[in-house]
Amino acid sequence: MIIILLGAPGSGKGTQAVMLAEKYSIPHISTGDIFRYNIKNDTPLGKEVKLYIEKGLLVPDQLTCNIVEDRIKQEDCKNGFILDGFPRTIYQAEMLDEMLGKQQRIIDYVLNIAVDDDVVIKRLSGRRMCPNGHIYHIDSNPPEVEGKCNVCQKDLYIRNDDQPETVKERLIAYNNATKPLEEFYERSKRLININGEQTPNQVYVEVLKVI
Ligand code: AMP
Repeated sequence: MIIILLGAPGSGKGTQAVMLAEKYSIPHISTGDIFRYNIKNDTPLGKEVKLYIEKGLLVPDQLTCNIVEDRIKQEDCKNGFILDGFPRTIYQAEMLDEMLGKQQRIIDYVLNIAVDDDVVIKRLSGRRMCPNGHIYHIDSNPPEVEGKCNVCQKDLYIRNDDQPETVKERLIAYNNATKPLEEFYERSKRLININGEQTPNQVYVEVLKVI
């Protein structure tokens, strides 16, 4: 099963992706996580993408597509995968169809987790991350022990790009480059809209109804 999660930063794509990956035992591929891992480990890719991410800008398409193409060819993706944060431009969406076409595969579900911009800003300012991908919010989903992940007890951190100025840039990038994807997938009758302004569990229930 191949699932694409669309939605603004802070829409809850990552949270849903973690739950779906566990339920269907398929990998969760987050281009943002791949970039952050490389930045943290100071790899050549990390050096190349760091400035874009810190400014809230999109990483160039070709670079991003190459990474995804390599990743989805790996053995653990043979039964499917969940893409979180890719595609983010029409070019990336066209490239993805091409990559999958080469493997004679198609996307099963394009889930668009819809939330308003003001909700996004509120959510991102309270978001706390675990290094292993578990996500919390100081008001709506606080960890049991402040600053520690419930699952792996690791210290939680605030993403650099969740600072207010960067959030504004990310929303601009989303509205300009990524929002047109809704029409792209709508035209080919692949778009499924999900109300993202509910609790993570309610969103999950809605998602499972359509899968
Ligand atoms: P995310 O964790 O999905 O919010 O991504 C964090 C940042 O990584 C974004 O603000 C972009 O700078 C970059 N990024 C992630 N995925 C993509 C993509 N598909 N295309 C371009 N840039 C991306």
